[in-house]
This record gives sequence, C-alpha cells and structure tokens, in this order.
Amino acid sequence: MEVAAVRLLRGGALLRRTFPACLPAGKSPPRALRASQSQALPRAAGGRLPGGPLQTLSEEELMIQSAARRFAQEQVAPLVSTMDENAKMEPAVIRGLFQQGFMAVDVDARYGGTGASFFSLVLVVEELAKVDASVALMCDVQNTVVNGLLRKHGTEEQKAAYLPQLATATVGSFCLSEAGAGSDSFALKTRAEKKGGHYVLNGSKMWITNAREAGLFLVMANVDPSAGYRGITCFLVDRDTEGFHVGKAENKLGIRASSTCPLALEDVKVPEANVLGQVGHGYKYAIGSLNEGRIGIAAQMLGLAQGCFDCAVPYVKERMQFGKRLFDFQGLQHQVAQVATQLEAARLLTYNAARLVEAGRPFVKEAAMAKYYASEVAGLTTSKCIDWMGGVGYTRSFPVEKYFRDAKIGTIYEGASNIQLNTIGKHLDAQY
Ligand SMILES: Cc1cc2nc3c(=O)[nH]c(=O)nc-3n(C[C@H](O)[C@H](O)[C@H](O)COP(=O)(O)OP(=O)(O)OC[C@H]3O[C@@H](n4cnc5c(N)ncnc54)[C@H](O)[C@@H]3O)c2cc1C
Repeated sequence: MEVAAVRLLRGGALLRRTFPACLPAGKSPPRALRASQSQALPRAAGGRLPGGPLQTLSEEELMIQSAARRFAQEQVAPLVSTMDENAKMEPAVIRGLFQQGFMAVDVDARYGGTGASFFSLVLVVEELAKVDASVALMCDVQNTVVNGLLRKHGTEEQKAAYLPQLATATVGSFCLSEAGAGSDSFALKTRAEKKGGHYVLNGSKMWITNAREAGLFLVMANVDPSAGYRGITCFLVDRDTEGFHVGKAENKLGIRASSTCPLALEDVKVPEANVLGQVGHGYKYAIGSLNEGRIGIAAQMLGLAQGCFDCAVPYVKERMQFGKRLFDFQGLQHQVAQVATQLEAARLLTYNAARLVEAGRPFVKEAAMAKYYASEVAGLTTSKCIDWMGGVGYTRSFPVEKYFRDAKIGTIYEGASNIQLNTIGKHLDAQY
C-alpha cells in the first residue's frame, strides 16, 4: 500500500477545492458535498474495519476518496463541457487517470497497481462521476471488468504481461455484446476456430466502451456453437492484430466523451496463450465480472446524481420568486428532501454491495438492487434538478442537463433494469 499512498498523496499539499461550474465564484462548496464526507475510523487489529456505519471509511479509503475528488475537480471539471461537445475524452484526462493510479485501483502493487480495495474503487468511481460520468466509466470498465478478469483468471504470464500495461498506459475494453446479443448476451455469434497453435476469430461486436482508446480487448467468442453458451471463451486481443477493426464511435445522447464503438473481426489470429482462463468458461467469467461491474455502475449513477444535486440545491437556495427563496416553498423543499433521501438509500445499497464483495460474502442480489436502484434514482434526481432550476436548468449554460442526459444509460448497460429485476426476482423465488 506504500506505493499507492505515495502516489495518492503526491500533490496533496496543493489541495484546493474547486466548485461545480454552476456555482458563482467565491461561494463555499455545496453543503451536500461536505455532508457526504465520511469520518475516518481507526482500523481494528488485522487491518480490517470494525463493524460500524456503512459510510465510515478507513484512512486508506478516505485518502483515495479525497485524491479522486481533487483530481476530478481540478483536472476533469475544466474539460467536461468541451469533452461532451466534442464527444471525445481529452488525452490529458486519460493520462491523469493513469498517473493517479485510478486505472488499477485494486490491482496488486507488484503488477504496478495501486493495491487498494474494491471499496476504494467504488469511492473513486463515485467521485469521478460527480464531475463526469464518462471519465468514471472509463475508470470503472478498466477496473471492474478488464483488470478484474485478468486478475482472477489470467495465467501468471498473462498477468505479468498485461496488468502493468493496464495500470500505467493501456486502456482495455470488454467485448461481449453484438447486434443480436444484448440482454441475451450468450446468443453471441462471434466464432473462434482452433487452427494449430492459434484460434481464428470471426464476427462482430457492438457497443464496446473505451474501444477508440483501448490497446487491449477482452473478446468473447464461441469455440463450439454446438455446446451453446458452454463454448464461450475469452480471448486477449491486441489492438494491432491483423484483421481486427474498430469502427466509428456512436453519436450518443449522454456519456458522449466515452467512446462506444462496433468492432469487426476478420480472420483474427490469436495465439492459444491468449485464451483467458479455461476454454468454454467465458460465460462464467462474463457473469462474474458483470456482477461486480454492476456495483461500479451503481457508484457511477450515485456519483452523477449527487453531483447534479450539489449543483441544483445551492441554486434553489438563492433564486428568489414571489419575494422568497425557492427553497423556502415547502412544496419544493419536500421534493429536495425526498431526493436527498433516495440518494442516501442508493449510497447505502451501493456501499453495502461493495462491502459484501470485500467480505467474500454473496452479493449478486445486492449488486443488482444497487445498480437498479441507483440508476432509477439518477434518472429521477437529474430530472428533478432541471425542474427546480426552471429554464436555466434546461440550457447548456448549466451542467444539470448534461447530468440528465448522462443518467439515462444507467438503466440500459451492464444489464438493463429489467434484467436486474429478473436477478432479484430469481433470488426471491429461491428464498421464499
Ligand atoms: C453506451 C453503451 C456502452 C456499452 N458498453 C458495452 C461494453 O463495453 N461491452 C459490451 O459487451 N456491451 C456494452 N454495451 C451493451 C449493453 O450491455 C447492452 O446494450 C445491454 O445489455 C442491453 O442490450 P440491448 O441494447 O441489445 O437491448 P435489448 O436486450 O434488446 O433490450 C431492450 C429492452 O428489452 C428489455 N428486455 C430484454 N430482455 C428482457 C427480459 N428477459 N425480460 C424483461 N425485459 C427484457 C430490456 O430490459 C430493455 O428494456 C453498451 C451499451 C451502451 C448503450
């Protein structure tokens, strides 16, 4: 952890809080942001946290959270609207994510990672999303899915070859979805045929996050269609492999700075050594990583909603109509109170799911609940914030309309809301 501590503390003396763009200069930081800061609790013997409120963070977690907050406010915030308009992530932001150690939060230090916990990763994603959901997504996919799959299923050679790159310079993509395989992702048609010491991959993928920037692609392909989903296998494919093509990025409603591209694979030769884990086990790996990934998306949605709320509430406390602050109308204040309560509930669900992962306890139902609920809350919160700010909330001069657009994806990717509800329903069916 020492390496990480040094890296995260780098520049700590420069700690300076910047304000969301919607706040007039010179105003104090939003109260909600201050209120959402948690208190450090000393670690019990053995380094584990004693039982306590879910929002009680260890010193390490507090340090990482504050480093992510500082990075987001100082280095991401000034670029958010340009990146949204240009639909492109600024290279300086990507470099910053690597330099801060946020692209390998829970990767062991011996592979160049930060060596922190899964919970710390959730805090990083939440803080980044308060400022920009696209940047949070780049970090989330890299950590929860790409690094996670390599950490858990990679051979020692694969880990030694790829994890240091993923920690320092190489963006990764996870490639499961296809035109005909969305919610029903195991209906994928991409094939992998064994030829000597290689597999030859043919097919196409859709909706691949980070594909424009990625150097490494974890591609799911079927080696034996007659075995159905039990033929699905995960391959490590380098971007410059012959026959591997990244298509034009989609022009999206929200998370515009995050690239989402189709892929074409035409006789892509992948050495046998680049099979991740066991042949035919790709479906298990995909399910496992997406289960954890959903907690990351919950954190993204939670952070996004909190960031939007933090912009809107100071506004309604200043805006005067009928001789009173908007906030002083009980009809409006009750709405703010309701949203604050929903945000708190989303945070508790998300943190609880992350703590269950760390504790090695069953978490699939709780992860689905967190992702489902945080996505719903993000949609409701961002819509309400526009209502509260009236006409200005609807303009691009204030950031809340972008939060609203960014929130929509939460109910669609890494398992649409109905798919989360299916998972929760299955657990309830087994339980009662
Ligand atoms: C911006 C973006 C980024 C993405 N990034 C990635 C990525 O990096 N890698 C990757 O592999 N994929 C990625 N995806 C794909 C994403 O995971 C899928 O879009 C998602 O799984 C939904 O699939 P679909 O779009 O085909 O919708 P469909 O599966 O067609 O679903 C449409 C609707 O039908 C409902 N539905 C489907 N099945 C059921 C059911 N059994 N019961 C009830 N309702 C159902 C859904 O809830 C949804 O409302 C991304 C998508 C987007 C938009």
